[in-house]
Amino acid sequence: MSNRTPLMAGNWKMNLDHLEANHLVQGIAMELKDAGHDFANCEAVVIPPFTDLRTVQTVVDADNLEIKYGAQDVSIHDNGAYTGEISTAMLTKLGCSYVVMGHSERREYHNESDELVGAKARKALDAGMTPILCCGEALEIRKAGTHVEFVLGQIRAALKGWSAEDVAKIVIAYEPIWAIGTGETATADDAQEVCGAIRAALREDFGEATAEATRVLYGGSAKPGNIVELMAQADIDGALIGGASLKADSFAAMCRFY
Ligand code: PGA
Repeated sequence: MSNRTPLMAGNWKMNLDHLEANHLVQGIAMELKDAGHDFANCEAVVIPPFTDLRTVQTVVDADNLEIKYGAQDVSIHDNGAYTGEISTAMLTKLGCSYVVMGHSERREYHNESDELVGAKARKALDAGMTPILCCGEALEIRKAGTHVEFVLGQIRAALKGWSAEDVAKIVIAYEPIWAIGTGETATADDAQEVCGAIRAALREDFGEATAEATRVLYGGSAKPGNIVELMAQADIDGALIGGASLKADSFAAMCRFY
């Protein structure tokens, strides 16, 4: 039994305006409260679009909620002439505790490299936020049977030169691209195979203590119906949840997988 705290992170992607965000966060809080959720058993984190963050902060602060929140991306620059970008300082000011980087949608539509993703993780960590570093293979790679090697390559490139102590503070999210938003979940065994290989690589590169401390999430059509089986795997410490995180009852049910 590890002492890693399970984590459910709801990646809202480009969904919900700030009024809808207000409604959803209150709904999640109510569901969890009614169910007597103990946040020590599972952290609940929402990752709304940037434009919703101020609203989420206001709701969380006003009601003293234990729900945490974060952003879907961050700039590697501090300030200045970077039109459209958002800095770590802007996010910390809004009370963000997590930042996602390297989601396959950003890698694909914005050409983000492993090196850039690693730099974003570094930037977030230096600002006191927890990076959620995403990795995952496309269907062709899975079919060719080189998925483990591919994913480890993504992580090793992003974390090149990092100290074991810093790696222990991040969260890694394994999301096979073919399972994202498709309704096609990797089987628990498929997910465990890669999450286990990630932990073994962390052990090899950064040592036992870091491998034991770093949380590894699975993402890709995770939902209330498969979360229990996924969480029963030795190296899966939570989920990065897209579609199923947009409804208060399903997200809350996943936080209460235990
Ligand atoms: P999904 O998305 O749960 O809708 O498959 C997961 C993700 O892309 O983070």
